[in-house]
Amino acid sequence: MKVRNISSVISPPPVHFVGDGFRVHNFIPGNMGMERMDPFIMMDYNSKFYFTPSERQRGVDVHPHRGFETVTIAYKGKVAHHDSTGNSGVIGEGDVQWMTAGSGILHKEYHEEEFSKRGGDFQMVQLWVNLPAEYKMTPPAYQAIKNKDIPVVVSEDGKAEAGIIAGHLGETKGAAKTFSPVQLFNIRMQEGGTFTVSSPEDYSTGLLCLSGNVVVNDDKTLNENHFAVFAKTGTDITLRATADSVLLYLSGQPLREPIVAHGPFVMNTHQQISEAIADYRSGRFGHLE
Ligand code: MN
Repeated sequence: MKVRNISSVISPPPVHFVGDGFRVHNFIPGNMGMERMDPFIMMDYNSKFYFTPSERQRGVDVHPHRGFETVTIAYKGKVAHHDSTGNSGVIGEGDVQWMTAGSGILHKEYHEEEFSKRGGDFQMVQLWVNLPAEYKMTPPAYQAIKNKDIPVVVSEDGKAEAGIIAGHLGETKGAAKTFSPVQLFNIRMQEGGTFTVSSPEDYSTGLLCLSGNVVVNDDKTLNENHFAVFAKTGTDITLRATADSVLLYLSGQPLREPIVAHGPFVMNTHQQISEAIADYRSGRFGHLE
Protein backbone atom coordinates (compact mmCIF):
# COMPACT_ATOMS: atom_id res chain seq x y z
CA MET A 1 0.00 0.00 0.00
CA LYS A 2 1.16 3.47 -0.90
CA VAL A 3 -0.45 6.56 0.60
CA ARG A 4 -2.20 9.02 -1.72
CA ASN A 5 -1.83 12.48 -0.21
CA ILE A 6 -4.08 15.51 -0.41
CA SER A 7 -2.79 18.05 -2.91
CA SER A 8 -5.27 20.78 -1.93
CA VAL A 9 -8.36 21.39 0.19
CA ILE A 10 -10.90 23.68 -1.43
CA SER A 11 -13.21 25.83 0.72
CA PRO A 12 -16.82 26.04 -0.47
CA PRO A 13 -16.95 28.66 -3.26
CA PRO A 14 -19.69 31.36 -3.10
CA VAL A 15 -23.09 29.89 -3.95
CA HIS A 16 -25.03 30.49 -7.14
CA PHE A 17 -28.42 29.23 -8.24
CA VAL A 18 -28.98 26.73 -11.05
CA GLY A 19 -32.53 27.55 -12.09
CA ASP A 20 -34.27 28.47 -8.84
CA GLY A 21 -34.04 25.05 -7.17
CA PHE A 22 -30.35 24.27 -6.81
CA ARG A 23 -28.23 26.49 -4.59
CA VAL A 24 -24.74 25.25 -5.37
CA HIS A 25 -21.04 25.59 -4.72
CA ASN A 26 -19.17 24.75 -7.91
CA PHE A 27 -16.04 22.72 -7.02
CA ILE A 28 -15.28 21.33 -10.50
CA PRO A 29 -14.14 22.95 -12.74
CA GLY A 30 -14.00 25.80 -10.16
CA ASN A 31 -10.57 27.38 -10.50
CA MET A 32 -8.85 24.16 -11.57
CA GLY A 33 -10.26 23.63 -15.08
CA MET A 34 -11.92 20.54 -16.53
CA GLU A 35 -8.72 18.53 -17.04
CA ARG A 36 -7.55 18.26 -13.42
CA MET A 37 -10.27 15.83 -12.32
CA ASP A 38 -10.78 14.15 -15.75
CA PRO A 39 -13.18 12.26 -16.26
CA PHE A 40 -15.14 14.34 -13.67
CA ILE A 41 -15.67 17.59 -15.55
CA MET A 42 -18.22 19.29 -13.31
CA MET A 43 -19.32 19.01 -9.69
CA ASP A 44 -22.00 21.22 -8.18
CA TYR A 45 -22.74 20.79 -4.50
CA ASN A 46 -25.95 22.03 -2.89
CA SER A 47 -24.86 22.17 0.74
CA LYS A 48 -27.67 21.67 3.26
CA PHE A 49 -30.16 24.47 2.73
CA TYR A 50 -33.73 24.97 3.94
CA PHE A 51 -36.22 25.69 1.16
CA THR A 52 -39.48 27.28 2.33
CA PRO A 53 -42.78 25.64 1.34
CA SER A 54 -43.79 26.46 -2.24
CA GLU A 55 -46.82 25.63 -4.37
CA ARG A 56 -44.61 25.93 -7.45
CA GLN A 57 -41.91 23.31 -7.91
CA ARG A 58 -38.49 24.97 -7.94
CA GLY A 59 -35.89 23.68 -10.38
CA VAL A 60 -34.43 23.90 -13.87
CA ASP A 61 -36.73 23.89 -16.89
CA VAL A 62 -36.19 21.91 -20.12
CA HIS A 63 -32.57 22.00 -21.35
CA PRO A 64 -30.33 19.80 -23.51
CA HIS A 65 -27.16 17.78 -22.87
CA ARG A 66 -24.78 15.89 -25.17
CA GLY A 67 -21.47 14.08 -24.74
CA PHE A 68 -21.37 13.11 -21.05
CA GLU A 69 -23.35 11.69 -18.11
CA THR A 70 -25.07 13.58 -15.32
CA VAL A 71 -25.00 11.86 -11.94
CA THR A 72 -27.27 13.26 -9.24
CA ILE A 73 -27.00 12.05 -5.64
CA ALA A 74 -29.65 13.11 -3.13
CA TYR A 75 -28.73 13.46 0.54
CA LYS A 76 -31.70 15.49 1.81
CA GLY A 77 -34.95 16.36 0.05
CA LYS A 78 -36.29 14.90 -3.18
CA VAL A 79 -35.58 15.62 -6.84
CA ALA A 80 -37.84 14.77 -9.76
CA HIS A 81 -36.72 14.36 -13.35
CA HIS A 82 -38.29 14.00 -16.79
CA ASP A 83 -36.48 13.49 -20.08
CA SER A 84 -37.19 13.35 -23.80
CA THR A 85 -36.68 9.57 -24.01
CA GLY A 86 -39.70 9.14 -21.72
CA ASN A 87 -37.78 8.35 -18.56
CA SER A 88 -38.76 10.00 -15.32
CA GLY A 89 -38.26 9.41 -11.65
CA VAL A 90 -37.91 10.78 -8.16
CA ILE A 91 -34.80 10.36 -6.06
CA GLY A 92 -34.74 10.72 -2.29
CA GLU A 93 -32.16 10.29 0.44
CA GLY A 94 -29.28 8.08 -0.69
CA ASP A 95 -30.73 7.49 -4.16
CA VAL A 96 -28.77 8.16 -7.33
CA GLN A 97 -29.86 9.11 -10.81
CA TRP A 98 -27.30 8.26 -13.49
CA MET A 99 -28.31 9.79 -16.82
CA THR A 100 -26.30 9.15 -19.97
CA ALA A 101 -26.92 12.16 -22.21
CA GLY A 102 -24.86 10.55 -24.99
CA SER A 103 -25.98 11.71 -28.44
CA GLY A 104 -28.50 14.12 -26.98
CA ILE A 105 -31.31 14.45 -24.51
CA LEU A 106 -33.67 17.09 -23.19
CA HIS A 107 -34.53 17.01 -19.52
CA LYS A 108 -35.82 19.03 -16.61
CA GLU A 109 -34.85 18.72 -12.98
CA TYR A 110 -36.91 20.08 -10.12
CA HIS A 111 -38.03 19.59 -6.53
CA GLU A 112 -40.53 16.78 -6.08
CA GLU A 113 -44.11 17.98 -5.57
CA GLU A 114 -44.73 16.94 -1.94
CA PHE A 115 -41.28 18.13 -0.87
CA SER A 116 -41.98 21.51 -2.51
CA LYS A 117 -45.27 21.90 -0.68
CA ARG A 118 -43.84 20.88 2.68
CA GLY A 119 -40.48 22.63 2.32
CA GLY A 120 -37.44 21.30 4.12
CA ASP A 121 -33.72 20.70 4.11
CA PHE A 122 -32.22 20.04 0.71
CA GLN A 123 -28.73 18.66 0.06
CA MET A 124 -27.36 17.09 -3.08
CA VAL A 125 -24.51 16.66 -5.53
CA GLN A 126 -24.50 16.73 -9.31
CA LEU A 127 -21.48 15.36 -11.12
CA TRP A 128 -20.80 15.40 -14.84
CA VAL A 129 -18.83 12.34 -15.89
CA ASN A 130 -17.27 12.76 -19.33
CA LEU A 131 -17.81 10.07 -21.98
CA PRO A 132 -14.89 8.60 -23.91
CA ALA A 133 -14.79 9.93 -27.52
CA GLU A 134 -16.04 6.61 -28.91
CA TYR A 135 -19.17 6.74 -26.71
CA LYS A 136 -20.11 10.42 -26.95
CA MET A 137 -22.86 9.60 -29.45
CA THR A 138 -24.14 6.52 -27.60
CA PRO A 139 -27.95 6.46 -27.25
CA PRO A 140 -29.27 8.30 -24.17
CA ALA A 141 -29.92 6.08 -21.14
CA TYR A 142 -31.10 6.34 -17.58
CA GLN A 143 -30.17 4.34 -14.48
CA ALA A 144 -32.32 4.86 -11.40
CA ILE A 145 -30.29 3.54 -8.49
CA LYS A 146 -32.13 3.20 -5.20
CA ASN A 147 -30.23 3.49 -1.92
CA LYS A 148 -31.34 -0.03 -0.93
CA ASP A 149 -29.78 -1.49 -4.10
CA ILE A 150 -26.33 0.03 -3.54
CA PRO A 151 -23.87 -2.62 -2.26
CA VAL A 152 -22.20 -1.74 1.05
CA VAL A 153 -18.68 -2.41 2.34
CA VAL A 154 -18.30 -2.22 6.14
CA SER A 155 -15.01 -1.20 7.81
CA GLU A 156 -13.04 -3.58 10.04
CA ASP A 157 -14.04 -1.63 13.16
CA GLY A 158 -17.70 -1.73 12.12
CA LYS A 159 -17.95 2.04 12.54
CA ALA A 160 -17.87 3.04 8.90
CA GLU A 161 -19.38 1.88 5.63
CA ALA A 162 -19.21 2.74 1.98
CA GLY A 163 -22.09 2.49 -0.45
CA ILE A 164 -20.50 1.47 -3.74
CA ILE A 165 -22.42 3.53 -6.31
CA ALA A 166 -19.94 2.73 -9.09
CA GLY A 167 -16.65 0.90 -9.55
CA HIS A 168 -15.44 -1.50 -6.92
CA LEU A 169 -13.86 -1.62 -3.50
CA GLY A 170 -12.14 -4.92 -2.83
CA GLU A 171 -14.43 -7.63 -4.17
CA THR A 172 -17.59 -5.52 -3.99
CA LYS A 173 -18.88 -4.15 -7.29
CA GLY A 174 -20.96 -1.01 -7.60
CA ALA A 175 -24.52 -0.60 -8.80
CA ALA A 176 -23.97 1.65 -11.84
CA LYS A 177 -22.84 0.76 -15.33
CA THR A 178 -20.12 3.15 -16.51
CA PHE A 179 -18.32 3.75 -19.83
CA SER A 180 -14.86 4.15 -18.29
CA PRO A 181 -13.37 3.08 -14.94
CA VAL A 182 -15.01 5.26 -12.27
CA GLN A 183 -15.27 4.73 -8.52
CA LEU A 184 -18.00 6.58 -6.67
CA PHE A 185 -18.55 5.77 -2.99
CA ASN A 186 -20.92 7.21 -0.42
CA ILE A 187 -19.07 6.93 2.89
CA ARG A 188 -20.87 7.13 6.24
CA MET A 189 -18.77 7.11 9.41
CA GLN A 190 -19.42 7.18 13.13
CA GLU A 191 -17.21 9.34 15.31
CA GLY A 192 -14.00 7.41 15.99
CA GLY A 193 -14.43 5.08 13.00
CA THR A 194 -11.66 4.50 10.47
CA PHE A 195 -11.88 3.47 6.84
CA THR A 196 -9.43 2.98 3.98
CA VAL A 197 -10.32 3.54 0.34
CA SER A 198 -8.13 2.56 -2.57
CA SER A 199 -7.86 3.41 -6.27
CA PRO A 200 -5.18 2.79 -8.90
CA GLU A 201 -2.38 5.33 -9.29
CA ASP A 202 -2.98 8.07 -11.88
CA TYR A 203 -6.72 8.18 -11.15
CA SER A 204 -8.20 11.63 -10.56
CA THR A 205 -9.38 11.49 -6.97
CA GLY A 206 -11.41 13.74 -4.70
CA LEU A 207 -13.33 13.64 -1.42
CA LEU A 208 -16.27 15.86 -0.51
CA CYS A 209 -17.25 16.17 3.15
CA LEU A 210 -21.03 16.61 3.30
CA SER A 211 -21.26 16.58 7.09
CA GLY A 212 -18.98 16.07 10.06
CA ASN A 213 -15.22 16.06 9.68
CA VAL A 214 -12.44 13.54 9.13
CA VAL A 215 -8.68 13.34 9.50
CA VAL A 216 -7.15 12.19 6.22
CA ASN A 217 -4.03 9.96 6.30
CA ASP A 218 -3.51 10.93 9.98
CA ASP A 219 -2.39 14.29 8.62
CA LYS A 220 -4.93 16.84 7.39
CA THR A 221 -8.45 17.60 8.61
CA LEU A 222 -11.27 17.83 6.08
CA ASN A 223 -14.18 19.89 7.38
CA GLU A 224 -17.84 20.00 6.44
CA ASN A 225 -18.58 21.38 2.96
CA HIS A 226 -14.91 21.24 1.92
CA PHE A 227 -13.48 19.28 -1.02
CA ALA A 228 -10.10 17.56 -1.01
CA VAL A 229 -8.24 17.05 -4.29
CA PHE A 230 -5.67 14.28 -4.13
CA ALA A 231 -2.31 13.65 -5.77
CA LYS A 232 -2.09 11.38 -8.83
CA THR A 233 0.52 9.28 -7.03
CA GLY A 234 -0.26 6.72 -4.34
CA THR A 235 -3.28 4.47 -4.01
CA ASP A 236 -4.66 4.37 -0.47
CA ILE A 237 -6.41 7.01 1.61
CA THR A 238 -7.16 6.45 5.29
CA LEU A 239 -10.00 8.32 6.97
CA ARG A 240 -10.61 8.76 10.69
CA ALA A 241 -13.87 10.41 11.66
CA THR A 242 -13.70 13.06 14.39
CA ALA A 243 -17.51 13.38 14.28
CA ASP A 244 -20.32 11.43 12.64
CA SER A 245 -19.59 12.12 8.99
CA VAL A 246 -20.87 11.68 5.45
CA LEU A 247 -18.45 11.81 2.52
CA LEU A 248 -18.47 11.34 -1.24
CA TYR A 249 -15.38 9.70 -2.70
CA LEU A 250 -14.77 10.00 -6.43
CA SER A 251 -11.92 8.50 -8.38
CA GLY A 252 -11.64 7.83 -12.09
CA GLN A 253 -9.19 6.85 -14.80
CA PRO A 254 -8.43 9.99 -16.85
CA LEU A 255 -9.70 9.78 -20.45
CA ARG A 256 -6.86 12.07 -21.64
CA GLU A 257 -8.88 13.29 -24.63
CA PRO A 258 -9.47 16.89 -25.76
CA ILE A 259 -12.33 18.59 -23.89
CA VAL A 260 -14.33 21.26 -25.71
CA ALA A 261 -17.20 22.43 -23.54
CA HIS A 262 -19.97 24.80 -24.54
CA GLY A 263 -22.70 25.14 -21.90
CA PRO A 264 -24.62 21.84 -21.78
CA PHE A 265 -22.53 20.20 -24.54
CA VAL A 266 -19.12 18.63 -23.90
CA MET A 267 -17.35 17.21 -26.94
CA ASN A 268 -13.81 16.71 -28.29
CA THR A 269 -13.73 19.34 -31.09
CA HIS A 270 -15.27 22.73 -31.94
CA GLN A 271 -16.79 21.16 -35.05
CA GLN A 272 -18.68 18.69 -32.83
CA ILE A 273 -19.96 21.57 -30.69
CA SER A 274 -21.28 23.33 -33.82
CA GLU A 275 -23.02 20.07 -34.81
CA ALA A 276 -24.53 19.75 -31.32
CA ILE A 277 -25.95 23.28 -31.49
CA ALA A 278 -27.32 22.71 -35.02
CA ASP A 279 -28.86 19.35 -34.04
CA TYR A 280 -30.43 20.86 -30.93
CA ARG A 281 -31.90 23.80 -32.90
CA SER A 282 -33.34 21.51 -35.56
CA GLY A 283 -35.13 19.40 -32.95
CA ARG A 284 -32.96 16.28 -33.13
CA PHE A 285 -32.78 16.04 -29.33
CA GLY A 286 -36.45 15.04 -29.23
CA HIS A 287 -39.31 16.74 -27.51
CA LEU A 288 -40.19 17.52 -23.90
CA GLU A 289 -43.02 19.71 -22.56
MN1 MN B 1 -29.29 18.98 -16.67
